[in-house]
Amino acid sequence: MSQITLGIIGGGQLGSMLAIAAKKLNIKTVVFCDDIDAPAQNFCNQFVNGNYDNKEKISEFLNQVDLVTFEFENIPFETLNEINKFKPVLPKPSVNRLIQHRLAEKDFVNKLNIRTTRYVSMEKKSEIDMLEDFLPGILKTTTMGYDGKGQYPIRRSEDIHSLKIDLSKGYILEKLVKLKKEISVVLTRFGNNNYEIYDPIENIHQDQILKQSKLPAEISNKILIQSKEWATRIAEELKYIGTLCVEFFIDRNENLYVNEIAPRVHNSGHITLDNANMSQFELHILSILGQVTTNPKVIKKGIMRNLIGKEIKKSRKICLLGKYSSYKKSRIYNYGKKDIKEGRKMGHINFF
Ligand code: ADP
Ligand code: MG
Repeated sequence: MSQITLGIIGGGQLGSMLAIAAKKLNIKTVVFCDDIDAPAQNFCNQFVNGNYDNKEKISEFLNQVDLVTFEFENIPFETLNEINKFKPVLPKPSVNRLIQHRLAEKDFVNKLNIRTTRYVSMEKKSEIDMLEDFLPGILKTTTMGYDGKGQYPIRRSEDIHSLKIDLSKGYILEKLVKLKKEISVVLTRFGNNNYEIYDPIENIHQDQILKQSKLPAEISNKILIQSKEWATRIAEELKYIGTLCVEFFIDRNENLYVNEIAPRVHNSGHITLDNANMSQFELHILSILGQVTTNPKVIKKGIMRNLIGKEIKKSRKICLLGKYSSYKKSRIYNYGKKDIKEGRKMGHINFF
């Protein structure tokens, strides 16, 4: 196993954590990223900097690796598909094509008899007059959205007219769910119906950005079973290999909805770095390498608190907050990003 070199597309925090996990498993890594300051270059064996459509840089990257994975799902399908002709890409590019398009993703989930929010595709602002049923709602770009980017709340139909956006680029309008809780299920599929699934994680968002994740979530047994069953059904249908996250909403009547699927390791799973004997990152790497593992499990309860924007400067203060005092240990992760920006995930703290 020590000769294998893994290529990772994307060099942010997820790329860094994948490279660190790979090292633990004695796997070499090459990170390919369009950002010259990508934090993951500090943790990989080789770093290739170039745009994701730069053919020369892509072949320089591919020449050094045996297989390829990625840290974010918004890489153009064509790029992943080209790469897959030379070196295997896992998860498969076809999974990405489906999931990077909110409409295709939701259609796919509904075909599996799994509930999503109510949604409708929109191409023109004038259509809003026929869509009263979907209000209050959120208008979302069908592609390239993350951390709430490309989302616009629409309370009344008039709201849409003041927005300076071109709907012909592809949008969906989603009915707002009256949220009781948000949870996620992080699982790893090893092929042949072999799964490792953590119990659901309870997530708190602020301004549509994940703020805090608690494992295990405080939910009913019914929701626990249903969310794990739905996440497994989705992974099985996709014939998925690797770690995947399904985000869910629970409404005030205890109905469960799939919000979205992330075909990768996920921010809500970062607590597994400290409260499980195998993290989501290690499980991802083992599964894409076709390896097996023994009995991964969560050892203790834990909370992950994201450090967003300027919060990175007060991480020690956040560590001392009373609400985390029931946890014995804490560990601060600083992603080493060059610039602090509002809404940017700069690090996190695990309490366990
Ligand atoms: P992103 O791709 O940016 O993560 P999401 O669709 O997951 O986009 O939305 C981010 C957050 O915004 C959600 O986790 C939730 O808190 C809120 N949100 C999004 N859609 C809805 C909805 N239909 N009803 C209620 N809250 C929503
Ligand atoms: Mg989301």
